[in-house]
Amino acid sequence: VAVLVDPVQRLANLVRLWQEGYTGFIRAMEILEIAADITDRPAARPMPAPRGEISFSDVSFGYEADGPRVLERLSLTIAPGEFVALVGPSGVGKSTLCALIPRFYDVAAGTIRIDGTDVRDVTLASLRRHVGVVQQDVYLFAGSVAENLRYGRPDASDAELEAAARAANAHDFIIALPQGYDTDIGQRGVKLSGGQRQRITIARAFLKNPEILIFDEATSALDNESERAVQQALLSLANGRTTLVIAHRLSTVRHADRILVLTGDGIVEQGTHDDLMAQGGVYANLHSVQASI
Ligand code: ADP
Ligand code: MG
Repeated sequence: VAVLVDPVQRLANLVRLWQEGYTGFIRAMEILEIAADITDRPAARPMPAPRGEISFSDVSFGYEADGPRVLERLSLTIAPGEFVALVGPSGVGKSTLCALIPRFYDVAAGTIRIDGTDVRDVTLASLRRHVGVVQQDVYLFAGSVAENLRYGRPDASDAELEAAARAANAHDFIIALPQGYDTDIGQRGVKLSGGQRQRITIARAFLKNPEILIFDEATSALDNESERAVQQALLSLANGRTTLVIAHRLSTVRHADRILVLTGDGIVEQGTHDDLMAQGGVYANLHSVQASI
């Protein structure tokens, strides 16, 4: 049975770190991402910059050792530089599948490899340097836009921040904020739209510049202009990296090299949008019942 840090204890630590200030808080966020039983193996080596092949071999996982399995003997290979969209009903394990790659959790059985190396054989720090996770806006915190961007790379210069924000289609709206890059976007600060928040998380990923990118697309509706801006930002970020997107938008799914359809039965279909529409299966059905996926 996995030994987890008591959630109350974790929260107490978080509050303490918050009181210690910004640096402590960043550290807390990193700690929270890591289950307590996930550590470096004694012989773990740093992972060199990968070409970016990801493979799952017969991977099984459940959140509790003796509880239900979320993933059961799942196998999958993603080629270096490939852009893969993961779609499927809520609760089938899309986020879980993605969380296993940077080892937020460890598999119960099977193996996940990057460029042929088991992710458990490299150091966590190096693994997470090369695997960037862009989640919904959960990781925006109280502080300025610049501080939020620097979470991607603490030593980034102002020029690098701006270049990343431009690449993410975010620079123009940022400079239109009352204090530009110094504007507070915390609870008592400026309220950003969903599309703006997403572009800040994309800019942060540009700064981090990982070879493998995992993107959990926001589910909330964006207006058309925002959606286009986010889509362009995502596509330019994905360029030259292996990208796995949990996709909710048709625009993302259509751009994918390959779409994986995950259901409670595992990956039941895969192919391009046109392949899957022609197949007339789960994907085509999802399509006909929803305005967008
Ligand atoms: P999806 O992203 O496809 O909506 P998830 O991967 O979030 O699905 O969840 C898959 C299953 O695992 C769900 O039944 C969910 O309730 C469960 N689950 C997700 N996260 C946790 C967690 N941290 N602890 C326990 N169960 C979880
Ligand atoms: Mg999810």
